[in-house]
Amino acid sequence: MAARKDSSGSREPSAALVRRTSPDVGRGTQSPNSWALGDGQQVPWEYAPAPESRDVVQLKSRYGLFIGGKEVAPRSGQWFTTVDPSTEEPLAEIARATVEDVDQAVSSARRAFKRDWGSLRGSERAKYLFRIARILQERSREFAVLETLDGGKPIKESRDVDVPLAAAHFWYYAGWADKLEYAFPNRDPQPLGVAAQVIPWNFPLLMLAWKIAPALAAGNTVVLKPASSTPLSALFFADVCRQADLPPGVVNIITGPGEIGLALVKHPDVDKVAFTGSTSVGKEIGRAIAGTDKALTLELGGKAANIVFDDAPIDQAIEGVVNGIFFNQGEVCCAGSRLFVQESIADSFVERLKDRLSTLRVGDPLDKNTDVGAINNAAQLAKIEELVEAGIAEGADIYQPACELPARGWFFRPTLFTNVAQSSRIAQEEIFGPVLSVLTFRTPAEALEKANNTAYGLSAGVWTEKGSRILDMVSKLRAGVVWANTFNRFDPTSPFGGYKESGFGREGGLHGLLAYLDLGGGH
Ligand code: NDP
Repeated sequence: MAARKDSSGSREPSAALVRRTSPDVGRGTQSPNSWALGDGQQVPWEYAPAPESRDVVQLKSRYGLFIGGKEVAPRSGQWFTTVDPSTEEPLAEIARATVEDVDQAVSSARRAFKRDWGSLRGSERAKYLFRIARILQERSREFAVLETLDGGKPIKESRDVDVPLAAAHFWYYAGWADKLEYAFPNRDPQPLGVAAQVIPWNFPLLMLAWKIAPALAAGNTVVLKPASSTPLSALFFADVCRQADLPPGVVNIITGPGEIGLALVKHPDVDKVAFTGSTSVGKEIGRAIAGTDKALTLELGGKAANIVFDDAPIDQAIEGVVNGIFFNQGEVCCAGSRLFVQESIADSFVERLKDRLSTLRVGDPLDKNTDVGAINNAAQLAKIEELVEAGIAEGADIYQPACELPARGWFFRPTLFTNVAQSSRIAQEEIFGPVLSVLTFRTPAEALEKANNTAYGLSAGVWTEKGSRILDMVSKLRAGVVWANTFNRFDPTSPFGGYKESGFGREGGLHGLLAYLDLGGGH
C-alpha cells in the first residue's frame, strides 16, 4: 500500500486513511495549538471539551409516517433503524412505507389542496408559515442537536447555519404568500397542486425548508421523503406542523428506501417533483417522469472550482478555501472541491493551507469546538476512501494532518491533494467528503478553461482584489452560483441551482417560487 506524508513530514503507511482503533484515542483531537514564550519555548494547550447536551432532544423509540396530520404505522409493518454516525449507535426505528402508503399520502395531500390550502387566501397561508418559522426558532436548540445526532455534522454548523437558515426560508416565503400577484404581475399565478419532494442527507432540515416553504407559500400541498440515514428532523418537523395547527394533509412525510422515493415521484396524482441528491438518481427521476406533464426541478452534484489569484486577500482566501471544502465534512453539493491557485503564489498558499488544516478539530460533532464531524454513513465513507486511494494511485501527493480520529464512528481526516492531473478522478468526480484537490494556473484564461472542464455546473468561487476581474470571471464561469471573495454563503432571497450535470431549476428567491406556480404556461 502507498505511503504518504503526515504533517510532520514523516512517511507513514496508509493508516492515515484507516480509522484509528486504538482504545486510548478519545473523542476529539490532539490540538497543535501552542503559546510562544519570549525565550522561544512553545507551551502546548488543548481545548477543554465543550459538549452540547443531548438531553434537549427527547427521542421516541419508533416513528411512524406522517399522513393527514397523524402519525400512522406503515402497512408493511416494517421498520428500519437510523443511527448516530459518530458512534454507530441506533437512535430510533423508522417506518418503511409501502407503495400503498405513498398513495395514501398523495391522496391526503390532494384532499388538503382541494379542501383548504389551494384556495386559502395568501395572507392566511402566510400566518401558518410565520408560525412555523417562529416555532423552528423557539425549538432551534432541539433541532440543532437532533440534526447533529442524526447527520454527524458539527453542532456549531447545525446551530449557526442549518437551523437559522431553515427558519429564514419560512420567514422569507411567508412574506411572499400574499404578494404573488406583485411578484409576477399580470400572470395570474396559481399553485400547481401536489408536490412530491425527495431530499438528501447532507442538510436534512434545510433542504426540507428549501422545498416546503416555497411550495406552501405558493398554495401547493406536499409529500416529502427524507433520506433514510437522516429522517429524524423531518419527523420532528411533522410535530412543528401540528403545533402550528397546519390543516391536516398540507404536509405529509413518508419514510423508506429509494424505491419509495421513485414511487412517490411517479405517482399519477403528483403535479410537481423537486429532487435534491445524486446526479444518477436525478437522471433516473427525469427518465421516470418524462412524457408526463409534471413540473420538475433537479438539484444534483457538483465539482466547484475555487479560484485564487495572486492579488487575492490571502488570509481571507485561506479561510474561504477551508470553509469551502471542510464545511459539513465536504458533504455539500456546492463544495469548493477543486482549488485553482495562481502559480506565482501556489507554493506559499499550499503551505499556509496545510498549517490551517492542522488546526482543524475533527471529532465529536456535539462538541462546540469541533470543526469537522462524522461522515454521514458507512457507504459514503467507503466512497471517500475509494476515491482517495484512486488519487494516490493516479500519482497525486496526499497531505493529511496528524490528528487522531475517534475510535468509533465514521470519520475521515481533512485531506489535501497536490500534483493533481486535470484528468484524475479526484479532479473530475464528486467525492462528497473532506478532500481538496489543488491545481494551478498562470493566466485567467487558463483558470477559466480548467474550471469549466467539468461535467458539473453548480457553483464556483473567485478570489481577487480586482472588481473588473470578478465581473469578467463571473460572466465566463459555467456555474449557477459564483461567489466572489467568499464561499458557501446562502440566503433565502438568493436563487441557487445549476446546469449541465448539476441539474436545472432554482431554489431560493423569487425563482424558487416560480418552480411551484403556474403562470399560464409561463413556468
Ligand atoms: P441519492 O441520490 O441516492 O439520495 C438522495 C435521496 O433520493 C434520498 O432521499 C434517497 O432515499 C432518494 N432516492 C434514492 N434512490 C432513489 C430513486 N431511485 N428514486 C427516487 N429517490 C431516490 O444519494 P446518496 O445518498 O446515495 O448519495 C450518493 C452520492 O450522491 C453522494 O456521494 C454524493 O456524491 C451525491 N449526493 C449529492 C447531494 C446533493 O446535495 N446534490 C446530496 C446527497 C448525495 P434513500 O436515502 O432512502 O436512499
